[in-house]
Amino acid sequence: MENKFTLALLPGDGIGPEVVQEAVKVLRVLEKNLGLKLTLNEVPVGGAGYETEGHPLPKASLKVAREADAVLLGAVGGPRWEQLDFSLRPERALLGLRSSLKLYANLRPARVFPALVDASTLKREVVENLDILVVRELTGGIYFGEPRGIEIQADRTRRGINTLVYTESEILRIARVAFDVARKRNKKVMSVDKANVLEATGLWREVVTELHKEYSDITLDHMYVDNCAMQLVRAPKQFDVIVTTNMFGDILSDQASMLTGSIGMLPSASIGGETAMYEPIHGSAPDIAGKGLANPLATILSVGMMFKYSFDREAVNAKVESAVESVLNQGIRTCDIMSDGMTEVSTQEMGDRVVKELEGL
Ligand code: NAD
Repeated sequence: MENKFTLALLPGDGIGPEVVQEAVKVLRVLEKNLGLKLTLNEVPVGGAGYETEGHPLPKASLKVAREADAVLLGAVGGPRWEQLDFSLRPERALLGLRSSLKLYANLRPARVFPALVDASTLKREVVENLDILVVRELTGGIYFGEPRGIEIQADRTRRGINTLVYTESEILRIARVAFDVARKRNKKVMSVDKANVLEATGLWREVVTELHKEYSDITLDHMYVDNCAMQLVRAPKQFDVIVTTNMFGDILSDQASMLTGSIGMLPSASIGGETAMYEPIHGSAPDIAGKGLANPLATILSVGMMFKYSFDREAVNAKVESAVESVLNQGIRTCDIMSDGMTEVSTQEMGDRVVKELEGL
């Protein structure tokens, strides 16, 4: 088994560098425990890229990301860059990385750790033991379709246009990811569309159904997106893997993440090309940046996903998850998940506690 890996570290802005620093501690302890050789190449992106190189995704940073075995991103953005032209905004780095690295599948697990079940705004019985995975198509659909823009009509009023387009091959490849990951989980896929209104998602339903013939061990169901939004808060445990389009996935994955209580807990993986990218789902949280208040667990859990999906070491992901679970069971909390009777710790202390657990595993 391969044991030398080169990682691109893209800490970004706000709390990005703080949470990535804790993830690096975890990477170093895993390196030692597993006898690996990790080369970590840190480069600026987002606002940090703009400040140093005049662009949110400097060419040199993209090159480092492209040449890496995997990419770990913190978060980008902040009020300091909000007045910039759209093409120079920090968030453009995300779109640039996704399209350059051909990351067409975004995997977002939403798992409720038993110790945090009361952090959810939903009733305990609705979310207890919840473990679902949203597979979102990331490089197609209405966010990229042409024509797009705002035009002036003959009567001088404006008309805004976006286009929902999906080709058969785009649908096939994302559906295949969903069936493959479901095989390693509870073997259930829910394909979400709006086939009653949108032809492009009618095709989506047809193609997913055709591909399902190759996956007879997986149960496939279809659901309209409006119903899915409702079912996610009514009875989320009915789902295992949800696969859906770019825009529906954008919305549903945020909704699913909040079932778990805190945005600071949720990792993600973007896969499809040769180099996959791992990142917490949260943003750069300028309101708490630099104060040691950020929860680093989403980024640490993203490292676990990296070992599962890029390095074919599923057992390492399980170890990272159980180290996090054990720290939570000891009542250790950052302020976003703090509750009565628990011990509040800083970003750095939370990282140290997870490292300590991993040293013992
Ligand atoms: P956000 O996710 O940064 O913050 C939302 C709220 O959650 C804030 O109150 C924040 O303090 C809290 N929060 C977020 N992460 C946390 C953590 N790890 N621990 C504790 N609390 C945490 O979203 P926002 O405020 O809408 O956006 C801030 C900036 O981040 C914007 O510039 C936005 O464009 C950018 N953004 C970047 C990404 C990304 O890099 N992938 C994603 C979303 C938003």
